[in-house]
Amino acid sequence: MNSQNQNKAAKESSLCLKGGRLVGAGDKDQQADIWIRDGVIQGIGEAPCDFKGRNIDCRGKIIIPGLFDMHVHLREPGFEDKETIQSGADAAMAGGFTGLACMPNTQPVIDNRAQIEFIRRQARDHIVDVHPIGAVSKGLNGKELTEMGDMAGAGAVAFSDDGKPVERSGLLKNALEYSRMLGRPVIDHCEDLTLSESGGMNEGAESTRLGLKGIPSISEDVMVARDLLVAEYTDGPLHIAHVSTAGSVRLIREAKARGVKVTAETCPHYLVLTEEAVREYNTRAKMKPPLRTEKDRKALVQGIQDGTLDVIATDHAPHTIDDKDTEFDSAAFGIIGLETALGVILTRLVQEKIIDIRQLVEKMSLNPRRILGLDLPGFKKGLKANFTVLDPEKPWVVNANEFLSRARNTPFNGWKLNGKAVGVVNGTGIWWNG
Ligand SMILES: [Zn+2]
Repeated sequence: MNSQNQNKAAKESSLCLKGGRLVGAGDKDQQADIWIRDGVIQGIGEAPCDFKGRNIDCRGKIIIPGLFDMHVHLREPGFEDKETIQSGADAAMAGGFTGLACMPNTQPVIDNRAQIEFIRRQARDHIVDVHPIGAVSKGLNGKELTEMGDMAGAGAVAFSDDGKPVERSGLLKNALEYSRMLGRPVIDHCEDLTLSESGGMNEGAESTRLGLKGIPSISEDVMVARDLLVAEYTDGPLHIAHVSTAGSVRLIREAKARGVKVTAETCPHYLVLTEEAVREYNTRAKMKPPLRTEKDRKALVQGIQDGTLDVIATDHAPHTIDDKDTEFDSAAFGIIGLETALGVILTRLVQEKIIDIRQLVEKMSLNPRRILGLDLPGFKKGLKANFTVLDPEKPWVVNANEFLSRARNTPFNGWKLNGKAVGVVNGTGIWWNG
């Protein structure tokens, strides 16, 4: 296979993945063949010897339900110099994802039926399922509620003003009431802007040393607390995006214990990096919320282990070189993550025995789909084929220049990782790089 083919998905009407270790929801691990016809699982076990079609040797590989990233910025329409639906979905594929949900802070904003339909149409033929998230407020103006029901009818899987918080409590209340009726969550970017002001990194000893303006952890905590109260009052499904602080983890844990319908995500970077990554004024470690302290990082890891945090999502936020190659204060917030997430989590969490592969499947495949009300992939005859194939300990070095994303803004460039996706199968679509 030449390198061009490695970047493209193909169609396969008849496919057999042979001898992989299957790790799914609940069921015991098993080593088995999976044979698939026209995108549907025909059997699991020992493939019939007269099976005709493409056979792929998966011995030594792990096959899991396809990964899903519920927090992606695809930037199209409006910012195609940063990313497009095609390039972002390609990056997801290369990172081992079979599905993603994309945020509506584009230009125009995804805040009506026609825009939801546009995203779905653009992504229709891609191997990665692309599910649009509709805005909570028209044009992200924070004032007027969008036609949430109309967008849900067109395929919006959730609602969010991400990039910004839903500042007005009254608007959040209304949104959560609709959300409850529609059965689709509001995803909030929790930030009290009067506390974060023009800060660029975590507020603390490190920001003082660097002489940079800080964003205090309470900027997030205050908003999480408010959101939890509104969710409790309305009984609407709330999902908290990119949790970065120990305080948020504690608040969410307490709310879950008393029955609030809240789910939450954190991102690989908050689990493995701290504010120290900003030293040397590294703009590739600048994002919102910012990287926090070791104490916060440990609390997030604990939250992942005990189920307080349901999901690991990337908050893939592509920017151009120019957006980032500038002074720290003026550099754009955000990093990309689709092509490094799996390797980082395998290397730093699974191989370090902080979580096991089954928990990875929950946090990166099943829980995000549960939260968004999507069908769950699995290993059962009659189900649509939807898998990620991993080489669990394959050593590789992150080289941002090889990314299929248009963007290069990653703090993980040059990292030595162990474990990556070598293939994804989604229906009749297959991408293989093994
Ligand atoms: Zn956000």
